[in-house]
Amino acid sequence: MSYHPGHATSGLRWREDVGIEKRCDSCPKGMCWWPLTEDFWSFRSSFVKCRACYAKIKNAANARHLRENEIARLANLDYQRQYRAETTGVRRVKNQAAYWADPERYRAAARARYYRNRDRLLERKRALYWADKGAAA
Ligand SMILES: [Zn+2]
Repeated sequence: MSYHPGHATSGLRWREDVGIEKRCDSCPKGMCWWPLTEDFWSFRSSFVKCRACYAKIKNAANARHLRENEIARLANLDYQRQYRAETTGVRRVKNQAAYWADPERYRAAARARYYRNRDRLLERKRALYWADKGAAA
């Protein structure tokens, strides 16, 4: 543990705007002070590490578990596939609602995007056309 003038032994300090703060000794440089609330500290664990430090350890352990355990890795792939499908569906519904709230704004943006990239798009279209012609001949 490094030397912190005025807080050397406790790792606690008082600030008028925040209240009691505690230093996390595991954070980089050990200079992170977090308010003593559930947002920053898990009250079920000790107050040695903040939530971010525990999450870092937990995520590293989980990644190692998935790397070393084939069955867990496959189960996680299934979970990822399902999660992606669900979130994609939710995002699509949200995007459609936003579109139909003001369709003309989206059409204007699409037109602007087309004219911004018109030369590149037409060039690509011509290349595909001639590639297709070449394949047919
Ligand atoms: Zn920390």
